[in-house]
Amino acid sequence: MPSQQPILEVRDLTVEYDTGSSPVVAVDSVDLDVHAGEFVGVVGESGCGKSTLLFAIVQLLSPPAAITGGSVHFQGQDLVAMNEKKLAALRWRDYSVVMQSAMNALNPVKSIGSQFRDAIMSHDERVDDDRPAEVMRMVGIDPIHLRSYPHQLSGGMRQRAMIAMALLFTPDMIIMDEPTSALDVVAQRSLMVQIKELQQQLGFAVVFVTHDMSLVSHFSDQLMVMYAGQVVEFGATRAVFDHPAHPYSKGLLDAFPSIRGPKQPLTGIPGTPPNLAHPPSGCRFHPRCPVAFEDCPKIEPELYQVGPTQARCLLHAPGRTQPAEPVQEVTS
Ligand code: SF4
Repeated sequence: MPSQQPILEVRDLTVEYDTGSSPVVAVDSVDLDVHAGEFVGVVGESGCGKSTLLFAIVQLLSPPAAITGGSVHFQGQDLVAMNEKKLAALRWRDYSVVMQSAMNALNPVKSIGSQFRDAIMSHDERVDDDRPAEVMRMVGIDPIHLRSYPHQLSGGMRQRAMIAMALLFTPDMIIMDEPTSALDVVAQRSLMVQIKELQQQLGFAVVFVTHDMSLVSHFSDQLMVMYAGQVVEFGATRAVFDHPAHPYSKGLLDAFPSIRGPKQPLTGIPGTPPNLAHPPSGCRFHPRCPVAFEDCPKIEPELYQVGPTQARCLLHAPGRTQPAEPVQEVTS
């Protein structure tokens, strides 16, 4: 069970890309709490700010992206104000990151074992000599592959090797940016099961970014849905799946087949996420929303409490009632 005090507290975090003309707000005033041992899924289409949010949390943004507002506290320490030396002392040891493509993240001209040693040598703490072999076994890879180079491993093994590297110091939190996106569905499922088992065994928290709602459905405790740089829904994963309060969350859910219940036609979401240099007025989802009404292009919604979840939709604003019919036709 998660403890009371979050290990990660993100408040009002805003990230902008300096484009030379008007800045592009890629992450807009995001709040997030992650407790010890908790698994938080972050979902949304490509370009909705998920990966930028993760990179901002772990202070790995590079220009032209920059944090322009808000705070990130990890175990009570302000990461935004921290210098590189102190951040380097936390990385791998207290939190680690598993990148989207292991082939790009791993050094192609160094063996896996050599890269593990680099991570270990970057800290003063002693690590048992057999720890690299131990973490390789944990993720189901024969330690003999510590001698292998990344190109000698399959895509699934490379991702597992990245996760093994992230476990070297048994950190309190692991940030994962679409770690299964390059894998086939069978390898995806197997890796997710393994991540969950390791999490339960070792007790670390996970923040897991994906564009695949179905992937996190069985694994995450909390679910954050992002659209156009904003959090549009947040709550317990089961609550969001059972009763999505935001039309975008519902659209994402309707885009994936359910393995239970009667067969339903897959509908998808018409259109594409907006250009964040010129986001739509009012609710950013209104050009694609099947239930948009006349206030939607005029009023910017806040996150409203909707039962156990929060949703950024005017339908849930205090005192509002849902119109019987949508007033706007949505085209794909
Ligand atoms: Fe749809 Fe309006 Fe709600 Fe936005 S505020 S999600 S456009 S109903």
